[in-house]
Amino acid sequence: MRVSQFFLSTLKEAPAEAELVSHRLMLRAGFIKRLGSGLYTWMPLGLRVLRKVEAVVREEMNRAGALELLMPAVQPAELWQETGRWDKFGPQMLKIKDRHEREFCFGPTHEEVITDMARREIKSYRQLPLNFYQIQTKFRDEIRPRFGVMRAREFMMKDAYSFHTDFASLQQTYQVMYAAYSRIFTRLGLEFRAVAADTGAIGGSGSHEFHVLADSGEDAIAYCPDSDYAANVELAEAVAPDATLPEPGQDINKVATPNQHSIEEVAAFLNLPVTQLVKTLVVEQGDGVVALLVRGDHQLNEIKAAKLLGVDEIRFASDAEVREVTGCAPGSIGPVGLTVRVVADRSVAVMADFVCGANEAGYHFTGVNFGRDLPLPEVADIRNAVAGDASPDGKGVLAMCRGIEVGHIFQLRTNYSAPMACQYLDEQGKTQVAEMGCYGIGVSRIVAAAIEQNFDARGMTLPVALAPFSIAIVPVGYQKSEQVREVADKLYAELVASGIDVLLDDRNERPGVMFADMELIGMPHRVVIGERGLKDGMVEYQGRTDTAATSVSLLDIHTHVM
Ligand code: ATP
Ligand code: MG
Ligand code: MG
Ligand code: MG
Repeated sequence: MRVSQFFLSTLKEAPAEAELVSHRLMLRAGFIKRLGSGLYTWMPLGLRVLRKVEAVVREEMNRAGALELLMPAVQPAELWQETGRWDKFGPQMLKIKDRHEREFCFGPTHEEVITDMARREIKSYRQLPLNFYQIQTKFRDEIRPRFGVMRAREFMMKDAYSFHTDFASLQQTYQVMYAAYSRIFTRLGLEFRAVAADTGAIGGSGSHEFHVLADSGEDAIAYCPDSDYAANVELAEAVAPDATLPEPGQDINKVATPNQHSIEEVAAFLNLPVTQLVKTLVVEQGDGVVALLVRGDHQLNEIKAAKLLGVDEIRFASDAEVREVTGCAPGSIGPVGLTVRVVADRSVAVMADFVCGANEAGYHFTGVNFGRDLPLPEVADIRNAVAGDASPDGKGVLAMCRGIEVGHIFQLRTNYSAPMACQYLDEQGKTQVAEMGCYGIGVSRIVAAAIEQNFDARGMTLPVALAPFSIAIVPVGYQKSEQVREVADKLYAELVASGIDVLLDDRNERPGVMFADMELIGMPHRVVIGERGLKDGMVEYQGRTDTAATSVSLLDIHTHVM
């Protein structure tokens, strides 16, 4: 590309409101232009960088066996009502109406849309596992859009969603995605760390975030230098106790009923280790609706229990609501309770202060009670952790650092497939609910995060994988000297022919102006061509982070920039 045919719009000073280095540099380099709060135009120069991030992400997703598709950004409210998120997602969701007054949102994420597609298209276990992804615009009405594209309202995300017959298959794909993410961030030259994470509004059980390490990061990360423990300090995670289990089949509550489930059956049903089950009351309805009721000595136990069950949303429910969910006989349930949804086509309620008259009605207890029969599960709450605290894995002490969340992977389990009935037929021809995972990358945020890690006093110092162009040719006197022009044009043509992104600064500018621009926009390599050097067949080469230029034979220049 010739600068004369391109559009450079660099600024000497960044607008005062830009606090972060990356935001200032992106504005000064003319990568982005602000349209409104959290809304940015990607200018041709910045878009080249965004596309480079996209290309690496796309290549690695394809390599990992994911299939690219493209879903609509505008999504019908009905889908979000099926999962209950239309009301629960909150003010980050931009709701809109069409001319018929029908409600839609501009997608903040795509679990509902992909699950709707999958439930129509997936028929048999033979089609699974599947992993779909897209690179697409999202809108979230962030309460504080800031730092430019780092926390924008409209931004670019790569989001992937996988579908499985069972948990083991989900865990396998989760590992594949974990490895793919590590490759992506390594290829982009980022210093990053994978950390255990909370599942937030997306829901699910297991979850990891990928953070670019930077002092300006909004997230605090606690990690143990002596082990692989690392977690976002937002996290309160359950730590399973070392428990001695009762004998198999031992009925702690001594209530025998016809439909007795063993604790193993309940554990298998929930896809959880037996050690993670709290005392349970399984209520069976005629149509197979099952409620899992957990009683503890105080509410904290219920919350811990719910955490252990991988429940992401815990809310207190009214008596009426609980009865409706569980179908329990009136009077059998105490006034307060927690309802949670864990599995498939089944509602799971976790109750506090459960007053049970239900035994007589044919319901039954099974299982064990942490705190009474087993040690109480600990929730490792590191929300107030400081450097020097003991690491929850017991392998050392915690250190703290700051991070920018650039990726987030989740084991969704059946959080979406159950309420939306995304099912398939198994080998026996039986209908089963699919297991799901989802995997996000903040493609546009990565551009800002990379700049936070790659800058100096003169501008960006992006690696070749990310820089808008790989090499700048800066001829001194391009317009005046025929010789300089000829050599510059020839080198330009040769490098272009070998597939290199070259920027030829053919402007009629003073060298100082051209150098400053090329440094600001982070050109990894610079070749300066002048009449004086050409007398001896020499040009000047300088890598962006080199302290000085070196004189190089024109014939050798390729070896420096390839
Ligand atoms: P954050 O904690 O920063 O608000 P999130 O946890 O809400 O992010 P996810 O739902 O996990 O975000 O979305 C996947 C990825 O999308 C994030 O890891 C992040 O890189 C990116 N992302 C989320 N919100 C924004 C935003 N407002 N602007 C730019 N990128 C974003
Ligand atoms: Mg967020
Ligand atoms: Mg987050
Ligand atoms: Mg996240």
